[in-house]
Amino acid sequence: MSGKGFWNGLLNLVYPKRPQCLLCEQPLAEANEAVCAPCTVQLRAGIPPFCRICGREMPEPDICSDCSWRKERFFHRALSFGPYDGRLKDAILKLKEERQLELLPLLVDCLTEAYATHLFDTHIDCLVPVPMAADKERARGFNQAERLAQGLSERIGLPVVPGLVWQGSSRSQVSRGRSMRLASMENSVALSKTAGSDLDGMTVCLIDDVYTTGATVNACAKKLHSAGVRAVYVLTAAR
Ligand SMILES: [Zn+2]
Ligand SMILES: [Zn+2]
Repeated sequence: MSGKGFWNGLLNLVYPKRPQCLLCEQPLAEANEAVCAPCTVQLRAGIPPFCRICGREMPEPDICSDCSWRKERFFHRALSFGPYDGRLKDAILKLKEERQLELLPLLVDCLTEAYATHLFDTHIDCLVPVPMAADKERARGFNQAERLAQGLSERIGLPVVPGLVWQGSSRSQVSRGRSMRLASMENSVALSKTAGSDLDGMTVCLIDDVYTTGATVNACAKKLHSAGVRAVYVLTAAR
């Protein structure tokens, strides 16, 4: 141990560091929280009106240009808590890139609120997490979509059905840029072995952390329909 490390270690023993907010690094009032109250308040929910298909904030109730441009759509509607920006974006990035799993409850709160706001009167049978490439999941140690789906399931009581697997190269490579084709995405998503009988006739809600172009969820929704799914909704923390 270097001399500096030794003295810092000793200082921490004598004056233990107060726990810090994972987002702004300010000292926390309550030691058992992960995020301070001011940061929590800054998580901004989307403000209506929204695109009727993808949930994007719009100046007036309408369908956005991305959605009118999309030729084939296999999901009914996509909904999210709020724009991928500010503290919400920080929380998602820290969860994924710094593996700060303590941020999960906060993001599950966001999903739960979005579910209560947008899907309270929609009949949904189960939650299906958007799958992740196996190598990427091994490197990260978890699939955030799966963790979010599990968290939401505990709050609202709907079962999680891991109906899809990612069999191609990782999503970030496939989905880079807007020119990606639905076909190349489709080849990357497959039904899991158990999915067939579980999903037949069901209305499912796909769960992911962020809705970007909708290409991934569209490919997932198409696969789910091939298993006899009746309708697919999409719920994400951000879009
Ligand atoms: Zn904070
Ligand atoms: Zn749209």
